[in-house]
Amino acid sequence: MPLPDRVLEATGKPAGLAPSQELRERALAVLVARDLAHIVDLVAYADGDVIEVTNADGSTAFDRSAPHVVRRVTGRDPIARQDPLDFASLADEPRAPTNARNSYPFARERLAGLFEHPAAPDLVVVHTAGHYWPERGGHLGEHGSLDVVQSRAPLVLSGAGVTARGLLDRAARIPDVGATLLHAAGIDTNDDGVHHARQTGVALGDLVTPGAKHVVGLLWDGCNSNDLYALAASGELPAVARLLARGCALRGGAVAEFPSVTLVNHTSALTGCGPGRHGILNNAFYDRRSAERVVPNDSSTWHRACEWLEPDVETVFETMARSRPGAMTACVNEPVDRGATYSTFGLVRDRGHSDGARSLGSELPDPTADPHASADQVAADPGYAWGTSVDATGLAQVLGLWADAATRPALMWWNTTLTDTAHHAGGPHSEVARASMRDADRRLGVFLDVLDGTGTTQDTFVLLTSDHGSEAADPTCLGDWDAALTAAGIPFRDEAYGFIYLG
Ligand SMILES: [Zn+2]
Repeated sequence: MPLPDRVLEATGKPAGLAPSQELRERALAVLVARDLAHIVDLVAYADGDVIEVTNADGSTAFDRSAPHVVRRVTGRDPIARQDPLDFASLADEPRAPTNARNSYPFARERLAGLFEHPAAPDLVVVHTAGHYWPERGGHLGEHGSLDVVQSRAPLVLSGAGVTARGLLDRAARIPDVGATLLHAAGIDTNDDGVHHARQTGVALGDLVTPGAKHVVGLLWDGCNSNDLYALAASGELPAVARLLARGCALRGGAVAEFPSVTLVNHTSALTGCGPGRHGILNNAFYDRRSAERVVPNDSSTWHRACEWLEPDVETVFETMARSRPGAMTACVNEPVDRGATYSTFGLVRDRGHSDGARSLGSELPDPTADPHASADQVAADPGYAWGTSVDATGLAQVLGLWADAATRPALMWWNTTLTDTAHHAGGPHSEVARASMRDADRRLGVFLDVLDGTGTTQDTFVLLTSDHGSEAADPTCLGDWDAALTAAGIPFRDEAYGFIYLG
């Protein structure tokens, strides 16, 4: 059911025509000024056939169509460091690193991918790792930026077709998730090596042998990858440890598409392509072509999220249906459900509530009665209690689907929401964040017991990931670039706090 990300209010008036170069230069002068460098990590924009990335210390330009081709570096390159294995352990995870110390895996490819879309903003402003903005909806734990800790989701592969080999020194990207699920199920690609023309994700074919009877994708929203692996190793996440005992995990995780926010990356995982191709550019954005504000990530619009998908994109459920007609697929608590045989949000649509999942709140189970929940956290925080109710319904749906051999899905996707709520509330490594992962682990353990009890464990491939990471904000790192733009007299609209439309 719901996703926890906020939809931030836009500031400024709707933008009309594309901005003049003069206006963009004025805005850039404000945004990359030294006095905002503590909150503006970098600014990126498309200019003709290049993407420009700039901040107070320097800039770089690279090819739009061939992002590995660097055209220019002036001063210090804001995305110089791109090793996906940077900071890939708890001990190595820095606290609010500055741009000079930070790392941006696949930065050029991810930025070029976003700017493929005609509704991409005029300027993308990326928050520094430590930027804390509670007055605008920010939290102690954040994601959305381009840097590695906010972008890195865990990635565990387990079960049918996977060799047990522990933690591996490598990384993948979120669009690889969908490609890997289809590969595990034995779904062939076309002659171009993809399942649909817009796919960019690549199956982890050297780690997964195809042919599993059941394929299960688990998304625990917003988990810090280093912390999840450490808790699994220390015995605090025994169900994840069970997966690892029959599989492997990537220390560099699955790197989120940019922006590293929820619905962008749920969609990227389930379509195998980034936002510039699937069309959900942010949790909220502005489409200059239709002069329309698009808000796909809201409790009242989750059930309609797929309406914003580009028409020639295929979800993993649609690919399964096309390749294997009649195969049972299930999409639990996940808005990106187009083509699934069973879908939670399909049930919401069938009810015809105009406000979607929002109206279902009173029907959710009592979180204080959930045997898998951390009772002290449920009692302390209404957000935690809500996420608990939602995830309890997720487990109940999964158990219902697996109770009967006839409805056991060939492909199931199961989204867990509480983990993101808790990582926002306390920040990564906090007690509340860890409690949420222990709760998710208990629910996963119930499911793994069902697989064991029904004799389906050896036939089932399981992939566990998140949609992005979680990084601790620095409560002393305050400020607002919108105030500076306004003070400079620049007309603009800021969607989701970072997508700037000028004019
Ligand atoms: Zn998320």
